[in-house]
Amino acid sequence: MSHIETDLIHKGKEFNESKAVVTPIYQTSTYFADEDLKEYIVAATETKHPNFYHRHGNPTNSQAASIVASLEKTEDALVLATGMAAISTAILSVVKVGDHVVTQNSLYSGAMLFFKEFLSDYGVEVTHVDQKDNQAFEKALRPNTKLIYVETPSNPNLDITDLQFIADLGKKHNITTMSDNTFASPINQSPKDLGIDVIIHSATKYLGGHSDLTAGVVCGTKDFIEKVWRRSLVLGGSLSPFDSWLLLRGLKTLSMRVKQINSNALALAEFFEKHPAIKYTGYIGLKSHPQYVLAQKQMRGGTGMLCIEVIGDEEDAYQNAQSVLNKLKIFANAASLGGVESLVVHPASMWGSHHDKSQKSTSGITTGMLRVSVGIEHIDDLIQDFDQALKEIK
Ligand SMILES: *Cc1c(COP(=O)(O)O)cnc(C)c1O
Repeated sequence: MSHIETDLIHKGKEFNESKAVVTPIYQTSTYFADEDLKEYIVAATETKHPNFYHRHGNPTNSQAASIVASLEKTEDALVLATGMAAISTAILSVVKVGDHVVTQNSLYSGAMLFFKEFLSDYGVEVTHVDQKDNQAFEKALRPNTKLIYVETPSNPNLDITDLQFIADLGKKHNITTMSDNTFASPINQSPKDLGIDVIIHSATKYLGGHSDLTAGVVCGTKDFIEKVWRRSLVLGGSLSPFDSWLLLRGLKTLSMRVKQINSNALALAEFFEKHPAIKYTGYIGLKSHPQYVLAQKQMRGGTGMLCIEVIGDEEDAYQNAQSVLNKLKIFANAASLGGVESLVVHPASMWGSHHDKSQKSTSGITTGMLRVSVGIEHIDDLIQDFDQALKEIK
């Protein structure tokens, strides 16, 4: 087996039937039938056939999927139009009316809405537990539990779920386990090695890496991916060939980007930890992270995601966070993450009104919190940018 860095560039080349070094964008919705109609009938019925009709498959998409499957060490993968298409299509391939799901209190907002509003309307019950508490997952299980869905590190608090524990629990009770590996990226964490069944990505983030596409990936066994593919035929969230080509281009540098991002984020976290205007620095790579030991056990790097809290009580902290946001010059105030450019958001103002205290407390968002996605710029410039933005915070 070759190494990740090599697979990122060479895996899935068999899907490129041209002589072009770079796989072409197969920008077509449909494909010619051969004279031999028998082959065409095979193409129409075979799972993910890359030469029949776009919703069934596409050569550019097949290559992107094959690379991500090899990164996540799973038998197969399916690329879809967005991370949410990957999440919803994968979950709807496991649960049906009358089933029960156990998941976390802290989740990506779209996934949270899917559990809280969508699934409940379709007769699937969901229990949310504290991801830091292994026993809470076990206690929440019922005879009709069909899925344990986790996200680690979670958005935006960077809490960690014990993947080995979840995988063992799922195996013991014959329950499918699914993990959103978007924040970690396959460079920093391999849920499959710990026994997780299904791995999900928003490829919009680190996998694409340039903030120029949306895509999602579901990784799992060949049988499971076939199920997800059948669901995707009717749900219809196919990835466009152009986005898939951009994803292939982005993937080539994934390893280099994530290594640089890990190192920048650690240096920035060390700067924040010593800064008097910062009350709390949440970074997985810091010894002060409450779950540092677990993170070291199941991860190979700290990721580019940081969560800081500026000083001040409730309203003061809110104003301070807003002021820092306005003064930053390199860090752009924008949603999303995982790109080459550094971004920052103020979760309290972005995800609902900062007066909605109940919602905040379950998701762990505080008024002075800033979520930072570190890019690949020079570290001295990144530190200098925050240094000037924090100057007048008292
Ligand atoms: C962004 C994100 C998603 C959703 O991905 P989209 O591509 O925006 O649909 C899912 N999970 C996590 C952790 C994310 O950060």
